Amino acid sequence: MPPDHAAPGGQPPVPSATQAAPWRPGTLAVVAGRPGREPDGPLNAPLVLASSYHQGGPTGYARSGNPTWTALEDALGQLEGGTAVTFASGVAAVAAVLDLLPLGATVVAPDVAYSGTLALLAEQEAAGRLRVRRVAITDTDAVRRALGERPATALLWLESPSNPLLEVADLPALAAAGAAAGALVAVDNTFATPLLQRPLELGAHLAVHSVTKALSGHSDLLLGAVVSRGPELAERLARIRTRTGAVPGPAEAWLALRGLRTLALRVDRAGANAADLASWLATRREVAHVRYPGLPADPGHARARTQMRGFGSIVAFEVVGGAPAADRVVAGCRLWVPATSLGGVESTLERRRRWSAEARAVPEGLVRLSVGIEDVDDLRTDLAAALASAPRAASTQPSR
Ligand SMILES: *Cc1c(COP(=O)(O)O)cnc(C)c1O
Repeated sequence: MPPDHAAPGGQPPVPSATQAAPWRPGTLAVVAGRPGREPDGPLNAPLVLASSYHQGGPTGYARSGNPTWTALEDALGQLEGGTAVTFASGVAAVAAVLDLLPLGATVVAPDVAYSGTLALLAEQEAAGRLRVRRVAITDTDAVRRALGERPATALLWLESPSNPLLEVADLPALAAAGAAAGALVAVDNTFATPLLQRPLELGAHLAVHSVTKALSGHSDLLLGAVVSRGPELAERLARIRTRTGAVPGPAEAWLALRGLRTLALRVDRAGANAADLASWLATRREVAHVRYPGLPADPGHARARTQMRGFGSIVAFEVVGGAPAADRVVAGCRLWVPATSLGGVESTLERRRRWSAEARAVPEGLVRLSVGIEDVDDLRTDLAAALASAPRAASTQPSR
């Protein structure tokens, strides 16, 4: 192995800056990242499996770059309006953002968010690498106060809508406050996808994705991405990827790009199904509280309307009767698949507190739905039958 796998000059290749494309997002999802038109050249980016390249080019070794990643990065960059760097998983993308920070830096982070991000922050904090100030991100004034405390904030981490409580942060206000405090502002945009929300346009420096979820959409791979405003952060992130080796597999990148081509159709259909099911769930006596920003009564609805183009395909609800009743609902489904993860074409559900890493603020009886693209009547019928198995617990445990 050569002593340094990044290019002869010792630096990984610079991610190419994304051109401002004339197409709308639904079109970009289909066309961005395609190779140029060459007679008899492939229409779509081919899968390039290689660890090594003929010498003389800027990449040299596949830990520094791969043409299939580049195609996916081109597409994700155009969709988010920035420069994308892909990683081996969503968590690897989160970790790369934290790697941008100096030792001992302060992060302002949500008290409830994706459990893997919270666990990573807690472990970095326990190891003395980072300081973490946790805030309720729906409380804009509380976030502003946390940003103003000493020592100064290096990173404001936001997730909106959040996993699994579907909380909506005021992204334009918080991005402005973070930037004014001199912090880097990152938004985990996994739940919305760039079709429904574009954090860089709303003022963030970085949009982070678990590409594992809706962007790839078929529950068959792990991948992550960070899209940066401007090439300087993207260059630093690409260097971190090369140094830590958190590289995507080319096959995963190819599958993700293939999945991305149908993103607009899937987001539309799954979002319509989710809206339908959320309103229906709100009428059910077995259900105590439905969380979905698309519901007019949801506390995040007004904000979501101003910063999102739709409300997404994730719905959470609390089952009357707590954990035992919720477990019974999950187990009672025949069409809905009891499984973790989200954003696939198939509808899945789980009780989130079955995971020990889940935030204590998440109710024990909370079931998170990842709504897929099946016929919504079948989804409703199946869930109705499963809910009908819950009231036995409700009658013995009044919890409303
Ligand atoms: C799943 C998820 C992640 C982590 O992504 P992986 O691809 O599983 O590593 C990060 N953020 C959110 C909001 C997620 O749902």
